[in-house]
Amino acid sequence: MSKATFLTKEQAEAIAKEFPTPFYIYDEKGIRENARKVHEAFAWNQGFREYFAVKALPNPEIMRVMKEEGCGFDCASEAELMLAKAVGSTGEEIMFSSNDTPVSEFAYANRIGGIINLDDISHIDTLLSACEGEDATPFPETICCRYNPGGVFEMANGIMDHPGDSKYGMTKAQLFKAYSRLKELGVKRFGLHAFLASNTIGGDYYPQLAARLFQIAVEIREQTGVALSFINLSGGVGIPYRPNEVPNDILTIGAGVQRQYESILEPAGLGDIAIYTEMGRFMTGPYGALITRVIHEKHIYKEYIGVDACAANLMRPAMYDAYHHITVLGKEEESADHMYDVVGSLCENNDKFAIDRHLPEITVGDLLYLHDAGAHSFSMGYNYNGKLWCAELLLKEDGSVSLIRRAQTPKDYFATLDILPVYEKLNE
Ligand SMILES: *Cc1c(COP(=O)(O)O)cnc(C)c1O
Repeated sequence: MSKATFLTKEQAEAIAKEFPTPFYIYDEKGIRENARKVHEAFAWNQGFREYFAVKALPNPEIMRVMKEEGCGFDCASEAELMLAKAVGSTGEEIMFSSNDTPVSEFAYANRIGGIINLDDISHIDTLLSACEGEDATPFPETICCRYNPGGVFEMANGIMDHPGDSKYGMTKAQLFKAYSRLKELGVKRFGLHAFLASNTIGGDYYPQLAARLFQIAVEIREQTGVALSFINLSGGVGIPYRPNEVPNDILTIGAGVQRQYESILEPAGLGDIAIYTEMGRFMTGPYGALITRVIHEKHIYKEYIGVDACAANLMRPAMYDAYHHITVLGKEEESADHMYDVVGSLCENNDKFAIDRHLPEITVGDLLYLHDAGAHSFSMGYNYNGKLWCAELLLKEDGSVSLIRRAQTPKDYFATLDILPVYEKLNE
């Protein structure tokens, strides 16, 4: 089975003349069209906002596109908050959904006016101490709390995930306590957040999650008198990594959430709650590719194809055994009658982009297109074996290509070695 690429072999070769492989390339048109569909899907909700999960693709040029499409940003660290600020987002356009959060990061998030999403009840005290001290800030008037129902998250088609084993969020009892305490501390606008399953397909996840959170919103009002201002469905809407998987239809998902909203919140007089989302993967995943060139073939006990990218550029297969579809550019029509392991150069035997993958016959020099590398891909890059990060490119709507992050150089790799001027020594 095949999967469409947003780049032909000819285009990829022309780009590779200017920007050597490996490189990531993102499709601006695809990103924008998808973001518009997301907004269309939730247009029924007045206060709707998608906070793009920055960790999925933390590049300011991509974030600028997202901002133009009306998105805010979901951040989980000081540097991610800085990125959101750098592209001009302020105040409640920024969500800070972190966990195990250092005091200094709460302080920074509060200083720039972002919405703080508390992962734990103890974080109320952490946040209080973050508001004190030298550059004291008032305790925020808007706060969100993250919920973890425990147990297993089950839907009609089986167990989706195991919240009881996850480190995130508060128990229900803690949640109610937290809202009461926050009310005493003068908080005026409250939110509720939960992230219970990752990379979901089938379209039921958001509506089912929404139904649970809406019911809890009703209970919160009954038990604490707090009427929530927003409910944050977080991330977790998946993409079809495999060619036989059916893509999520965000319009159907939005309509499913709307039905729950109308049947649970509106009758309870809570019909003015804004819906927020923090999607990452769904927003950019399909609209990015890692382009890498075949530099070796090796025939031992198995057939290996060696490429110039490695797990340091794309970690998901090594880390999660994740499937990324591969197209051999220019050989789209050839039959996949060869079986290969497609590998990178790390001294790690899990540095394999594909194992026992059926592909057309590959020769050295071919360009491989690794699909669905637009989220949680470049951003998970690391520098093991002294492997450097590759460049990121943007395929603009007019067909031109711009460099939106240059590749790392050895000088970048050595830059933090302040004690030893290693790089200078190299140049002696
Ligand atoms: C990772 C993450 C997201 C985005 O998840 P996706 O699966 O990419 O949609 C959103 N919110 C939080 C708190 C996260 O940790």
